[in-house]
Amino acid sequence: MKRFGKNFFGVLVFLVLLALVFSLFLTPSIQENNLTINQLVQKIDAGQVKSIVVHGDTLQVTLTDGAKAVSQKEAETGVVETLKNYGVEQNALQKVELRVENQSGAQYWAGLLLPVVLPTLAMILLFWWLFRQAKGGANQAFNFGKVNIKLFSANRDKVTFKDVAGLKEPKEELEEVVDFLRNPKKFLDIGARIPRGVLLMGPPGTGKTLLARATAGESNVPFFHLSASEFVEMFVGVGASRVRDLFQTAKRAAPSIIFIDEIDAVGRERGAGLGGGHDEREQTLNQILVEMDGFERDSNVIVMAATNRPDVLDAALLRPGRFDRRVVLDLPDIKDREEILKIHGRGKPLGKEVNLKVIAVRTPGFAGADLANLMNEAAILAARNDKKEVSQLDLLSSIEKVMLGPARKSRAISEHEKKITAYHEAGHALVAAAVKGADPVHKVSIVSRGMAGGYTLKLPLEERHLKTKTEFLADLAVSFGGFISESVVFKDVSTGSSNDLRQATELAHRLVTQYGMSEKLGPRTFGKTQDLIFLGRELSSERDYSEATSGVIDNEVDSFIKRAFDAARKIITTHRNVLDKIAEALMERETLEQDEFYAIVKSFNLKQVGIKA
Ligand code: ADP
Ligand code: MG
Ligand code: ZN
Repeated sequence: MKRFGKNFFGVLVFLVLLALVFSLFLTPSIQENNLTINQLVQKIDAGQVKSIVVHGDTLQVTLTDGAKAVSQKEAETGVVETLKNYGVEQNALQKVELRVENQSGAQYWAGLLLPVVLPTLAMILLFWWLFRQAKGGANQAFNFGKVNIKLFSANRDKVTFKDVAGLKEPKEELEEVVDFLRNPKKFLDIGARIPRGVLLMGPPGTGKTLLARATAGESNVPFFHLSASEFVEMFVGVGASRVRDLFQTAKRAAPSIIFIDEIDAVGRERGAGLGGGHDEREQTLNQILVEMDGFERDSNVIVMAATNRPDVLDAALLRPGRFDRRVVLDLPDIKDREEILKIHGRGKPLGKEVNLKVIAVRTPGFAGADLANLMNEAAILAARNDKKEVSQLDLLSSIEKVMLGPARKSRAISEHEKKITAYHEAGHALVAAAVKGADPVHKVSIVSRGMAGGYTLKLPLEERHLKTKTEFLADLAVSFGGFISESVVFKDVSTGSSNDLRQATELAHRLVTQYGMSEKLGPRTFGKTQDLIFLGRELSSERDYSEATSGVIDNEVDSFIKRAFDAARKIITTHRNVLDKIAEALMERETLEQDEFYAIVKSFNLKQVGIKA
């Protein structure tokens, strides 16, 4: 509608101009001193006329005093005849210089044709315009293939790494990308393969989008930002053509960054959905893969993508040459939270008593977005109370507001819950440190992640493909650590262990039925398993053993569980003092890195406990 309005105005202006041209051709150019024939005759009689030049029907009169005038004669009648008809005096007329200037050929034809041709032309033009309008309207229906690419230009909304707090490792990882975009030649000359795709993974609100924009800001290149859900709109086939469009645009602007936000909307594992394989989403995904493969070695376009569901992504997306760089963004820990609060406190006058560290302590589980929101809420609160500064109290009450807000409610942790979580995680970690065959503890944290209140991260020392029975038993014991610790310390257990227990049960079951690790049942497997892709990748199991065996399997699973559970319980009860120390440290610092954790444990000289295989 807006476009139509603009063009309509254009047509109008054109028509007015046309009319003007017309009037110039059709009316005498000199408007001054129009004389009627009568007046002209009178002037001739009075001897005031020096000369008359006849131009078609126009008479250009020059008076004896030098003034000029214009008159009009009757068409198709001679001048002299006209004047005579008006009774001019013969003598007087003879004194007048009379000159007839023929119209030039062009002028003649113009005079003849213009009145016909110009309106016709105008009509044609008008129709053409209207037609184009209509076609444009119709075209819009076929215009879905064009992406509505958002381009963050270098200066507007510029974000740099300085605006991103914490996230140290992700930033380091992306520095390399920035370096390449700034100076691709350096890398190409030495034959390095440049990262094509960088996948940012992390919970919602941890700054994935922000970090992508900051990368563009740092490297000062065009940044094409598109949300994956925008690929897939109403019509089939649109997604793929949008992808083509996006990549073409970016290549033209190279060096540049393409950023596909929330890529899981199109990048889900193919073939996992019900009802046949060739849906729109898949074609879009295929097109992305095709485009990424089609990059020449020296095309300076880097594709970034973000997701909070890396687990559902199609494996093809993660292959070398595609999104082979993966950058994990964690929820911020206490230090990072303070940094984020500082960044978002910029430009907001904070009271002298404000202590952002205290706020950071009180906000475990908050993502960057929550903290930004908190700062904003505090500012709103201060403004509503007509204050000039944001006070500590404003900040503290905003914590509640953000926590109790529907979005983050589940993540909120009270002091008591924090304690339970600390002891739970300390239990896992302590068992992991004391039992033989367990992987070293990498990180213990009570910063909540997804459904879990906290986590104990164990990583093997080296990449492994085989795992022994001893190691499995150690894993089992570690997974009971949280549950046991809660029950020993609080004489009560919480729902926080349900996930641990399910994993432990599944593991014990697998030891018996798949790995042949039960001595009683011997080296065989039980149950035929099958991948049923069309049912969303669920395992179905067909029984290939007797009812009696089924009972034995249950007993064996129980026996594995009991052995591991008892070992873990023994570790926790004998080392209660260590458990307390770890839990205290966790409540204070929230996250313990590997060295911090082992520094605590080492002072107690734990005895390594083995579980009999
Ligand atoms: P995601 O894309 O991971 O869901 P966003 O990048 O959209 O999260 O983050 C939302 C907002 O939260 C950002 O615009 C920013 O204001 C704030 N934010 C998140 N993480 C950080 C951080 N590390 N430093 C500063 N601000 C952050
Ligand atoms: Mg985002
Ligand atoms: Zn646990």
